[in-house]
Amino acid sequence: MRAPFIFAPMQQSSQPLSYQRLHTRTVRIGNLTIGGDHPIRVQTMTTTDTMDTRATVEQTIRCIEAGAELVRITAPSKKEAENLRAIRDELHRRGYTVPLVADIHFTPNAAEIAARIVEKVRVNPGNYVDKKKFETIDYTDAEYAAEIDRIRERFTPLVRICKEHGTAMRIGTNHGSLSDRIMSRYGDTPMGMVESAMEFLRIARAEDYHQVVLSMKSSNPQVMVQAYRLLVQQMEQEFGECYPLHLGVTEAGDGEDGRIKSAIGIGTLLEEGIGDTIRVSLTEDPELEIPVCKDLVKRYAVTASSPLPLGKGSGDGSRTSYSRRSTFAVSNIGGAQVPVVIADLSKLTAIAPSDLQHVGYTYNEATDKWAIADTAADYIFTGHLPLIFPLPGTLKVIQYPAAWQETVARAAIEAQEAIEKYFPIFDDAGYVEAGSRSPSLNFVMLDAYSDGAALSPHIDRIANDPSVVLCISSTNRNAVQSMRTLVDALTARSVRNPIILITDSNWQTADEHLVHFGVEAGALLLDGIGDGLCLGMSSQAYAQFDQYNTLSGRRYTTGSDRAERFLNHTAFSILQATRTRISKTEYISCPSCGRTLFDLQETTAKIRAVTHHLKGVKIAIMGCIVNGPGEMADADFGYVGSGPGKITLYRNKDVVKRNVPSEVAVEELIQLLKENGAWVEPLGKA
Ligand code: SF4
Repeated sequence: MRAPFIFAPMQQSSQPLSYQRLHTRTVRIGNLTIGGDHPIRVQTMTTTDTMDTRATVEQTIRCIEAGAELVRITAPSKKEAENLRAIRDELHRRGYTVPLVADIHFTPNAAEIAARIVEKVRVNPGNYVDKKKFETIDYTDAEYAAEIDRIRERFTPLVRICKEHGTAMRIGTNHGSLSDRIMSRYGDTPMGMVESAMEFLRIARAEDYHQVVLSMKSSNPQVMVQAYRLLVQQMEQEFGECYPLHLGVTEAGDGEDGRIKSAIGIGTLLEEGIGDTIRVSLTEDPELEIPVCKDLVKRYAVTASSPLPLGKGSGDGSRTSYSRRSTFAVSNIGGAQVPVVIADLSKLTAIAPSDLQHVGYTYNEATDKWAIADTAADYIFTGHLPLIFPLPGTLKVIQYPAAWQETVARAAIEAQEAIEKYFPIFDDAGYVEAGSRSPSLNFVMLDAYSDGAALSPHIDRIANDPSVVLCISSTNRNAVQSMRTLVDALTARSVRNPIILITDSNWQTADEHLVHFGVEAGALLLDGIGDGLCLGMSSQAYAQFDQYNTLSGRRYTTGSDRAERFLNHTAFSILQATRTRISKTEYISCPSCGRTLFDLQETTAKIRAVTHHLKGVKIAIMGCIVNGPGEMADADFGYVGSGPGKITLYRNKDVVKRNVPSEVAVEELIQLLKENGAWVEPLGKA
């Protein structure tokens, strides 16, 4: 039988699909060209005070030396915009000519100054002209048109300055900061995001100005992906051409969650050929964003002269709203149930109760009881290994047929427990030929075009068998598109068995694994494909995991370095980021910038330390009161810097405590969580 859960990228065979990037206009930004057939560019943004020329120059240099091809600097007012000249000149004096981008919110005057100094300006159509008051107004068509005229009047001067000075522009929409006008007509939707940018783009085109890049960012990868897909459709329909796209998941947070969210959102689109430049927004030093960008981009090293046989551009780019693939339930898998997590323990030499600790089950010998974490795997795959101890109550086991038969036959295990908790996994031919199967649940592996072959010849004998859960995987380099193609073929045959996504990695560092899993599993889950997830590593990657257990070159320290723990944790994080299964607190923290009024990294760590056990609660930690409240999107609670040493606390979008001294603000946040029934005592304190 073909061994499952093994990924061997060096032995890839024929490729059924070919990669094709969306063709976009070419835009020149100083000495850099993006769009068209040019490589996907990587960029970041400084976090220093823009008035601190030396600190900003030094941080910019660190970013450039890490590989940034564009560096953005905030210009909240005219004085910071003016100071971009000193920053640019000092960088040039030191030999750094990477293009600079001025980040503008609310202040057209600052934009008009910056556009004469730096190579690109970023405007946010949600707040360039409009001031957000969170008001709902019903506009008549005439009133709406009058508003657009008002925007044209205020925005056109900037367009003309950019045109005159050869300055590029990003029209950067953020889900969290749509104007009241857009919200009133389109709501808080991907279509509203698209229209917000299109209003500005139409004005630019009317001036025959085309040095434009667009972005559609959200802290929710699902919303972000849908908005970019819609924007591409809209541009093609309206103009017959597309402008380059800057991809990013905003307020993604830090550590593995920030990387996973970014990989899912950005990677899903890159898999479809969408995206000309990327920024990974982490609540970490900006130069640490660049290695993650590079890990993402190196998967698509496509230039006009060296096309790689990767995924077809279309992917499933037609999906602009979420709907889950319809399946029937087999046991606790499929139907309306949340996706399950399967932990692969088959690479251990033997399995002891203590090994289950890595996947969420902690055995207490004194009490003879298991403690089960919110992120406890639902199944473990043990391959050929036997289990010789009683299992925690909710845990089930998947084994190869021979091991499963031994388990069932073994006298030491109650027959009933064997039937209820142990299940076999077959390959497609093996299942058809098997003399012995589980009466209730059988896992059947289905290859997604790894060898260029057509759909399994046995599919009609497996399809819609009420005991079968399909486990799909592909060793094709173009695995996402291969798995999508397989799912499409199943759908065309009305096959409704639940599907487990099996995604293995042969990369080295924790960073690379997170990006790989985020892209390959996340891209499918975002489109409603997948009733379960099993992550694994090739034997080589598994053996080297401890050696390369690093994030951005630093030791990856969240938990033990056991690969099993890392994989289990990553699986739950992917499900959380795709909003398909919520198992922990969600943090929406901005990357910080020159507007930030406190140490955002330290504060995020402090808040995380006391709230990480609040499953499902969304907490935003935002650096400034100007943008923070607008940008924190769908957070339940907000912790927002409102002045030096001062924090304002929010419940949804409403201020509940103003100007709280920062020394007591975390305590006040806990109090707020308690008052709103969102607090539970951490384990051991209850
Ligand atoms: S919310 Fe954060 S990143 Fe955005 S402008 Fe404010 S401080 Fe800067």
